[in-house]
Amino acid sequence: MPYLEVSFNLPVQNTYTYISDEAVPPGCRVKTVLGRRKITGWVVSQPEKPPEGLDEGKLKSIEKRVDDEPLFGDELLSLARWIASLTMCSPGEALSSMLPGGIRERRDITESVDGDEVKRVEQLTASQQVALDSLNRSSDGWFYLYGITGSGKTEVFLKTAENTLAAGGDVIYLVPEIALSHHLVEGLKQRFPGQVAVIHSGLTPSRRLAEWRRIQSGEARFVLGARSAVFAPVKKLGLIIIDEEHEGSYKSGDKPRYHARQVAMHRCRKSSARLLMGSATPSVEAWSMMSSGGLERLELTGRPAGGAEPAVSIVDLKKEKGLFSRALVQAMSRVLGEGRQVLLFLNRRGFSYQYSCRSCGEEIHCRHCSVPLTYHKSSRTMVCHYCGYHTVPPASCPECGSLEMLAAGFGTERVEEDISRLFPEKRVVRLDTDAARKKGVLESTLRDFRDGGIDILLGTQMVAKGLNAPGVKLVGVLSADTSLNLPDFRASERTFALIVQVAGRSGRFIPDGEVIVQTFRPDAPAIRMASENRINEFYNYEIDQRRLLGFPPFSRLFRVVVRGKDENRVRQSIERLSSSLAAGGDNWELLGPAECPIGRISTHYRRHLILRSKRFDHTHAALGKALHQYPPEHGIRYEVDIDPVSLL
Ligand code: ADP
Ligand code: ZN
Ligand code: ZN
Repeated sequence: MPYLEVSFNLPVQNTYTYISDEAVPPGCRVKTVLGRRKITGWVVSQPEKPPEGLDEGKLKSIEKRVDDEPLFGDELLSLARWIASLTMCSPGEALSSMLPGGIRERRDITESVDGDEVKRVEQLTASQQVALDSLNRSSDGWFYLYGITGSGKTEVFLKTAENTLAAGGDVIYLVPEIALSHHLVEGLKQRFPGQVAVIHSGLTPSRRLAEWRRIQSGEARFVLGARSAVFAPVKKLGLIIIDEEHEGSYKSGDKPRYHARQVAMHRCRKSSARLLMGSATPSVEAWSMMSSGGLERLELTGRPAGGAEPAVSIVDLKKEKGLFSRALVQAMSRVLGEGRQVLLFLNRRGFSYQYSCRSCGEEIHCRHCSVPLTYHKSSRTMVCHYCGYHTVPPASCPECGSLEMLAAGFGTERVEEDISRLFPEKRVVRLDTDAARKKGVLESTLRDFRDGGIDILLGTQMVAKGLNAPGVKLVGVLSADTSLNLPDFRASERTFALIVQVAGRSGRFIPDGEVIVQTFRPDAPAIRMASENRINEFYNYEIDQRRLLGFPPFSRLFRVVVRGKDENRVRQSIERLSSSLAAGGDNWELLGPAECPIGRISTHYRRHLILRSKRFDHTHAALGKALHQYPPEHGIRYEVDIDPVSLL
């Protein structure tokens, strides 16, 4: 009888051997028992005989085969093994994450045809043509298409995709978030009829499986999706495109904590396929790889649709009262008077982000997390943005009993109120995750804004991406500091990217765009250089800083978060782990252990240690050994994150 090696979606490194009456090829799921529980696992191999030392008589048989055909072929099975060993998870955990979409609820993509954005470009610009020629010279290699927002990167992506398909290669196109790529989905379906598969977590499991099979069979040769689409089971990989390469959403926040860029590099190299990334604000890692020649840099210039880069000015908020500076209000009145539109950006939702006592200064924090609660006026609740805890605002101070409670700071909800007061006759709409929670709101708002039905759009992160409205003349960044003040070595890079991206929403079609960037720190390099369009200078500066401080790309980081409900045991666990990792020699340096910047989330205390590594393989092996030697005790969890993008 055949033997099956099975791995489960569980944090156990080992695989298990079962017997079965029929041969089940690797990449299929089987139902079986593990200990006393019934569980589905992945067949990862069909060994000739059970591993040494296993008593054959004691082997259990599988209960049922789940898939008739494997969900993963050899290429993806070996990719799963690579991810498992790199990110320190089990093959079963890797495989489970490669099938996109869990139970998480997501927005649906409404299907509608969008007139102006799907129109074909008549003639490539000179720089587009040069980029395309370079790409066409080879059928493999890693490329980076750098160009300001609106410089026509999408068209180069699509032409390269066309060429790849014509040469018999399949294409994977990654975007940060499918819900914001609605126009692209429509454009692709028109341009590549019948060939496009869109994978996203909003699909029902059966639809998702159907799309998966369409790709496996070779019917769909162009796959569009977010992060996990990098695992799409195309038959003959020819090209992976990563749009907006700098986006944090390409890094998985859950186990396995992989980065789609890293997986794409690996997959393209193994399959001799091309990798094409692009952004107006490359990650610092990508930028330095371009400089060192590890990535072939292609550059687009100008805005072929008739726009130009906007004029940017900085407002010092220290000299203003509140978030509506005189310069901003004046510019808004003028632009609105011309019948044009205004886009305002604020990276903070809710009404206010501090609710504190005027007498004693007590701040209201989440009961379960070490973060202040945000007051949401429309629902009259105080909400925790980390765990979702909510409560009614206290009428009096829980500390001293004073009745003078004060909401301070500005969130989108409060700013929306202020704008409506300032411009009562204008149509103002707020777009943040609170507003977009209702189905269809995101798409309809974006469409409405593009069609000119909204005068002022106020939003968070969401409006920084993919917004393409011809009528926008003025972009206001209400407070550029929110991301700058985070205790993370990437704070500066993120702030820079955000300002450049938001600013890029103006002047896309008409060359008269204006941008106002408000800040309490007008001299911070990220803010100044982003505003003054000193792009090269910023990257040089930032890369120098990283070199000085020994941060990536000059080292690689390994982060271990230890969390649990018992603060003392969390402390003891991480102490044990870190003493075994203290002596890194020339291979790594131990930072910490320390409390995480967010020391408590959902009643779990969190402490972390960071290994700053010069020699990746040695550090990886040593950490693996330490984790094996000191496995998490009951009630304690480890989160291992290699090359973390967030240190909060
Ligand atoms: P990016 O992805 O670089 O931000 P887009 O690809 O969105 O820029 O292009 C911006 C606009 O320029 C789009 O409306 C697109 O249709 C238009 N465009 C792109 N290439 C050309 C071209 N060669 N001629 C005219 N318009 C173009
Ligand atoms: Zn008080
Ligand atoms: Zn909370």
